Amino acid sequence: MAQDVAPPNPIMAGLAGRCPRCGKGHLFTGYLTLRPSCEVCGLDYSFADTGDGPAFFVMSIVGIVVVALALWVEFAFEPPIWLHIVMWFSLSVILSVALVRPLKGLMVALQYHHKAEEGRIEK
Ligand SMILES: [Zn+2]
Repeated sequence: MAQDVAPPNPIMAGLAGRCPRCGKGHLFTGYLTLRPSCEVCGLDYSFADTGDGPAFFVMSIVGIVVVALALWVEFAFEPPIWLHIVMWFSLSVILSVALVRPLKGLMVALQYHHKAEEGRIEK
């Protein structure tokens, strides 16, 4: 099936939530739930185990952005503390929700591309 077509760029396919083998099928069935397999090429997604990977990158990226903006706004405008709390809590939630799905797709696609899996003892 679909083995004769060139594989998609794993970064673009992952960020778009597409199948890492054919680039056409969908990766997710819910917001973060993976489908059992690709509906176009039949790739079994049971290999995918991103663990805490997406959460780690979301925390790192959002943390840097929000802290940098909060410091800049404090030194430039000195807003009241309640405004800081409202702005940065909201921005943290919005950025986290926006980033976690593309980052999970990216990690599944890179896991497939690099054939990364748990270590096994050879017999
Ligand atoms: Zn596919």
